[in-house]
Amino acid sequence: MPLTPFHAAVPWLAYVRRPAAFSFWALTLGAMMPDLEVVPLFALSPDIYAARGPMHSLVGALTFDAALTVLAVVVLVPPALRWFERRWPGSDVLRFAGQDLRSDPRGLLALYGSAVLGGVTHVLVDLPTHGYNPLLWPWQAGPLKLVPFADELWWDLVTGALWLAFFVLMMRAHWRR
Ligand SMILES: [Zn+2]
Repeated sequence: MPLTPFHAAVPWLAYVRRPAAFSFWALTLGAMMPDLEVVPLFALSPDIYAARGPMHSLVGALTFDAALTVLAVVVLVPPALRWFERRWPGSDVLRFAGQDLRSDPRGLLALYGSAVLGGVTHVLVDLPTHGYNPLLWPWQAGPLKLVPFADELWWDLVTGALWLAFFVLMMRAHWRR
């Protein structure tokens, strides 16, 4: 059960290796985007364990998830960065892996590739933690239960703690550096 923001640490690995090739913001928002469907799906059906749909599929990660992520990065990130810069000018909070996150790549290819990488890593990280995974939507008939104890509380806690630890390690190694 990695909480949504902790998903971002996985595609950050690619950013740390090749910062010029990726958009930090598209990787980060892309890695959170699939969980956008969890709230409305949960509202429709009270079964939280089934609250994953097309946004948690590979097709979704390549198409609508990535499109929404690119849109969010283009529309939301620049004003958010300008606001932040006005409030805390020159802050090192926007530094990661030796890069200034105010000057993130703007090319559509880098944005789309980063969005896809974020989305795909999210979907894959979810696989062993949750029983219900529509990975191969729309061709998949039943749930893809890879791990017999998926969705059991102890397993949620173990995987949640591991991904949290990984997130903390990535932040300590690269944030504000
Ligand atoms: Zn998810």
